[in-house]
Amino acid sequence: MTTQTLTEIRQVLHQHPELSGEEGATAERITAWIQECSPDELHLNVGGHGVLALFGSASDPLILFRAELDALPIQEANDIHHVSTRPGCAHLCGHDGHMSMLIGLARRWKEKPVPGVRLGLIFQPAEETGKGAAAVMIDPVFETLQPHRIFAYHNIPGKPLGQVMVRKGSMSSAVHSTILRFTGKESHAAEPHHAHSPGRAIAQLLLAAESMTSADRTDEAYTVVTPVFAKLGSHAYGTTPGQAEIHLTMRAGDDLRLATLQTLLLAFAAKLAKEDHLTLTHEVIEPFPASINHSDATVEVMKAVYELGADLVKLKTPYPWGEDMGHYLAAWPGTLIGLGSGVDQVPLHDPAFDFPDALIEPGVNLLYHLLTGYQKS
Ligand SMILES: [Zn+2]
Ligand SMILES: [Zn+2]
Repeated sequence: MTTQTLTEIRQVLHQHPELSGEEGATAERITAWIQECSPDELHLNVGGHGVLALFGSASDPLILFRAELDALPIQEANDIHHVSTRPGCAHLCGHDGHMSMLIGLARRWKEKPVPGVRLGLIFQPAEETGKGAAAVMIDPVFETLQPHRIFAYHNIPGKPLGQVMVRKGSMSSAVHSTILRFTGKESHAAEPHHAHSPGRAIAQLLLAAESMTSADRTDEAYTVVTPVFAKLGSHAYGTTPGQAEIHLTMRAGDDLRLATLQTLLLAFAAKLAKEDHLTLTHEVIEPFPASINHSDATVEVMKAVYELGADLVKLKTPYPWGEDMGHYLAAWPGTLIGLGSGVDQVPLHDPAFDFPDALIEPGVNLLYHLLTGYQKS
């Protein structure tokens, strides 16, 4: 049997995507590739379909790297030989590439282990839904680990291939979605004055979302509120509606700013409900804490980048997207790293996204070099 190249591995993963929480076949493939690298410990079904591989002695400091197993519920629009074989499901965030890089790191370790270091690889389920990291962290096997560092990386389209982006402090935003539900009183459509319609509240909230969104995204204190879904009444043309709901995705540079934004939104919605005699309930879904990069760990990444002579950019503001890496970074020192995936690369989650295979090798080089920085001298 010939060993598959990392590019072949990436393309096999791309052809066989699985949704968040359903990554069983992906985990099986990962397990087989990792077993070829002879890990000292291999744990399956970690926090769902997660795979944890440990290399080296338990008495040495653990340097843990994370990749994600899941794909997206979006139909791929690519004409490539390794196009997704599953209708309505595709690796459009590049998690196939991130996984291949960790397989590459395991292969490097097998060729040349790093003395005085324990290497951990966690292939995490359900990143896209924000559930996987928290589930992994409360898994019994994970609770026994005390990583010295935890690192993850994400490809960043629109930036030169292989460019490394770092930031001390917040690297990716605190994000959640809030559902607001209003209940009033219906009336004949000819007599809207007898109804308590939530129509005005929904309209006001759609406008408020715009004013709660910063015009200047480079401002440290930026906030973004995006209405993603709204529903008022039904197709009953004789009825003034008495029911409505609006779903808003909200983001800010850190958890405290997001909490403040949420307080403002709820206070405004409560005021609107009171004015129009409506009852209001709310629900928060898909929360992602901000990923707060540890200062020392970030310096260590910068040192590795300089030593490799790679292109380094220090970001001025956090990324506006959510990443569940924030759960790990709240517990252990580490860094989320940005890796440019090409100036012409289409955006993440775009139906035409396909991870550039040319990024795998430089990515593995960076991870391995970073790891050697913890070598016992
Ligand atoms: Zn994504
Ligand atoms: Zn992603």
